[in-house]
Amino acid sequence: MNMTQTYKHWRLESDDKNILWVYFDKNGASLNTLDREVMTEFADVVDVLAKDTKHIGAIIASGKKTGFIAGADITEFTKFKDMDDAYEALKQGQDIFNKLEALKMPTVAMIDGFCLGGGLELALACRYRVAEESRKTRLGLPEVRLGIHPGWGGTVRMPRLIGAMQGLNMVLTGGTVSGKVAAKLGFVDVAVPKRQLVHAARFYIEKKPAPHKPSFMQQLSNKQLARQIIAHLTRKKIREKANPIHYPAPFHALDNWEFAGVLGDKAYDREAKSCAKLFLSETCQNLVRVFFLQEKMKGLAKDTSFTPHHVHVIGAGTMGGDIAAWCAQQGFTVTLQDLEPRYIAPAMKRAYKLYSSTLKEPHLVQQAMDRLIPDLHGHGLSKADLIIEAVVEDLAIKQKIFKQIEEKAQPNAILATNTSSIPLDEINTILRSPDRLVGIHFFNPVSKMLLVEVVKGQATSQAVFEKALTFVRKIDRLPLPVKSSPGFLVNRILMPYLIESMDLVNEGVPMAAIDKAMTDFGMPMGPITLADTVGLDVCLSVANYLGKYYTIPTPKRLIELVEQRKLGKKTGEGFYKYDKRGKQIKQDYTYDKPLEEIADRLVLRMLNEAFACLREGVVTDEDLLDAGMIFGTGFAPFRGGPIHYAKSQGVRELYEQYSKQRKARGEDVEVFAWDQALG
Ligand code: NAD
Repeated sequence: MNMTQTYKHWRLESDDKNILWVYFDKNGASLNTLDREVMTEFADVVDVLAKDTKHIGAIIASGKKTGFIAGADITEFTKFKDMDDAYEALKQGQDIFNKLEALKMPTVAMIDGFCLGGGLELALACRYRVAEESRKTRLGLPEVRLGIHPGWGGTVRMPRLIGAMQGLNMVLTGGTVSGKVAAKLGFVDVAVPKRQLVHAARFYIEKKPAPHKPSFMQQLSNKQLARQIIAHLTRKKIREKANPIHYPAPFHALDNWEFAGVLGDKAYDREAKSCAKLFLSETCQNLVRVFFLQEKMKGLAKDTSFTPHHVHVIGAGTMGGDIAAWCAQQGFTVTLQDLEPRYIAPAMKRAYKLYSSTLKEPHLVQQAMDRLIPDLHGHGLSKADLIIEAVVEDLAIKQKIFKQIEEKAQPNAILATNTSSIPLDEINTILRSPDRLVGIHFFNPVSKMLLVEVVKGQATSQAVFEKALTFVRKIDRLPLPVKSSPGFLVNRILMPYLIESMDLVNEGVPMAAIDKAMTDFGMPMGPITLADTVGLDVCLSVANYLGKYYTIPTPKRLIELVEQRKLGKKTGEGFYKYDKRGKQIKQDYTYDKPLEEIADRLVLRMLNEAFACLREGVVTDEDLLDAGMIFGTGFAPFRGGPIHYAKSQGVRELYEQYSKQRKARGEDVEVFAWDQALG
């Protein structure tokens, strides 16, 4: 290829077929993202293409080893001075992509790896799109997850290209799809294996087939009358999943589509105006904060050279079985040990179900199953470089097992426990090298919960701790470093909140009102439903355990229910009753006081514990506390985490409110928990 022109972030080269290759290779970055400087240069590139008479077409591709374009540069989302500033940036992008779309020469976006947000909007403005077919190539418009919607024409072009049903689904859910699925949906022209990608891209430039056209029904779905009906039904559907006050973005996108359609300047302008407004909203700013919290946690895994070749898991129960399955899915060889085959068999069954639903292709499912090896006699112990213990929560049993582990394990193997409450320095007293023991505390269900607490005991060596953090990243989870103290971070904060909600039940507040108050606040599930889902026996044992260290009287009702073996969803009854399919029998949430009062009380209880954790150094900073609660419990992400929320409300005001509440109930207030935050 001959070099024809170079920019800071773009590279133009012409090939022997007289095709112009436009490579995006963002300077000084490992990832291609679109920021103002990149877009300004791209505007020049598009002008060059508009004047070009020499080439038969242009192929836009990534100059990086992996990934097409990851989206807009999110660091810029917090820098807009005001709505006009945001609107201008959006308009600039729209103008460039409109010019790209209007080019006379054929254009192809050649997509290999992620093609997200602004990256997909750029691709949608090309005449053709070819994509690598595997699941590694992900295409989507995830903007709603950051509290905005696409603003560079995506909300207009996507439904126009593939019709309202599928197009709106891409915009409103923010989900991603593989190259193959994108081709099936029609917004990619063809998905091919990697080796045929260049050939396919050239084919479209040389043969100029007719560009993709939506079917008659798809075109019809964007007509005014259809828009009214579809918008009405869709609005109802998204309301079931998102509260428009907390998450306005999908509702705005739907309104825009309904009122301005998919043709003409009005549609683009409305998109830009609405997106600019969302950029400045608290929801967007907090969700951007959550995005960066996630990045911060990813960055905690510094010892990137550590890759265990073999993971051995002891205990194939709820947690051990699922931890083993997850590690094998992530590519590790895993041996899974338990006392009898009948304990291992259900874990293997669950693994198969998980792989079938996530990996889908039979050969990938088979490969993952081959990596997960039942190991009744513990042969894997001497081969593994990481051993995770997940047997029952009993100090004596854990100690006995670790004694055996230490005898058989390789001298450098890392020893980890999944204990949810026992301090590491109690378990490690029987070890010859207590510095080898670290906590790797997963949450249930393992395949869904992103957070993993990595627990450092007083004896844990820094090197082992860092390797554990790295391992957690390598299995695509978010590591949260915590000090070994009762309940670590998440259970320590969650438990008093759950118990407070049970106290409210005791005081006669309807359970459904308590749950509604908290889902209205933004929790994914109310606390009573959460307790029923976790299992009341589990709640009781954690409450009893934490009760040894902190003053949290265990609610009478909880004890009674456990005595009656009403353990929650799993037994068909707990606080609530459940039908045969496990569906909760709904109860009336009518209550004679505002639900906000309930939410205030429960959130303040949670904040009190959060401030205590900060003060005791359970985590090193506020960001990590917020991240832990968002990714470990689903604490309303649009509020940016408990500490961020407290600060936005005013810590002193909240403290005064909390003291008043507690005094009214004749309780002492643990002022010390707040003193650091109060300054
Ligand atoms: P579980 O009762 O479902 O499973 C424990 C398994 O350990 C059983 O299959 C049992 O047969 C096996 N086992 C017992 N002694 C053994 C031995 N000597 N050798 C090999 N296997 C043995 O328990 P679980 O809920 O999976 O909890 C396991 C650990 O994970 C506990 O420490 C618990 O506190 C922690 N944890 C549980 C959850 C949860 O939600 N269940 C969440 C986080 C952490």
